[in-house]
Amino acid sequence: MSKIVILTGAGISAESGIETFRAEDGLWAQHRVEDVATPEGFMRDPELVVNFYNARRAQAAEVSPNAAHKALAQLEAEYDGEVVVITQNVDDLHERGGTQTLYHMHGHLKGALCASCGHRWPAPMVMQAGDTCPSCKAPAARPDIVWFGEMPYDMERLFDHLAQADIFAAIGTSGNVYPAAGFVAEARSNGAHTIEFNLEESAVGNQFAEHRTGPASQTVRKWVDELLGK
Ligand code: NAD
Repeated sequence: MSKIVILTGAGISAESGIETFRAEDGLWAQHRVEDVATPEGFMRDPELVVNFYNARRAQAAEVSPNAAHKALAQLEAEYDGEVVVITQNVDDLHERGGTQTLYHMHGHLKGALCASCGHRWPAPMVMQAGDTCPSCKAPAARPDIVWFGEMPYDMERLFDHLAQADIFAAIGTSGNVYPAAGFVAEARSNGAHTIEFNLEESAVGNQFAEHRTGPASQTVRKWVDELLGK
């Protein structure tokens, strides 16, 4: 049975209306990464960080999965083999599009995490700085997002999947953030065919055997039709 492992990044959600990390407008452009996406930034100003993710959570709730998210769910449902989606995104557009086997390696806007004891629970729509942990009662609730300098989730299982991949596809990711940017090399060294879907070649683009250039809603839709023989 063949296995397809797919890594997605902010680019797959761009056509749903969530701006990418490097877009020149929107939520990210108004803040420095060091302030809102590092543990040190959270320690310095928890209110700023919690409010930033409250705004992103509200924005994610207003948008809908696009044709690329839906195509990947159809691939998983109809492909005669295994499909695993690994996302760096913290929105829930893959699950709302119907994907079942999904890893949120950089965490999730819908999650809260205790900075003191590590307990995880569903986040309210609006978190407050100093919210208490339901387990240890410390006033240490934070968004369950993997920040720069922190270890992504499920790495051991993700590398197992990469080792078994016959096809590895990266969709809408700039190849600047490791360890995800290293997945193509890992999959290729294990013999996978590698395909990049992007508007332009990414920072690790030269490591892919095949490139499909254009908006993910079109290129991914077409690829899925090919794989399903439609
Ligand atoms: P990135 O912003 O660095 O790169 C996005 C990539 O997508 C770029 O290479 C761009 O050319 C491409 N792209 C843009 N629109 C596209 C489209 N319509 N079709 C195909 N490709 C398109 O994002 P990244 O590589 O995911 O890494 C940045 C970090 O920021 C990650 O850790 C991620 O968790 C976080 N982030 C997440 C979200 C989200 O959850 N939706 C949004 C912004 C940033």
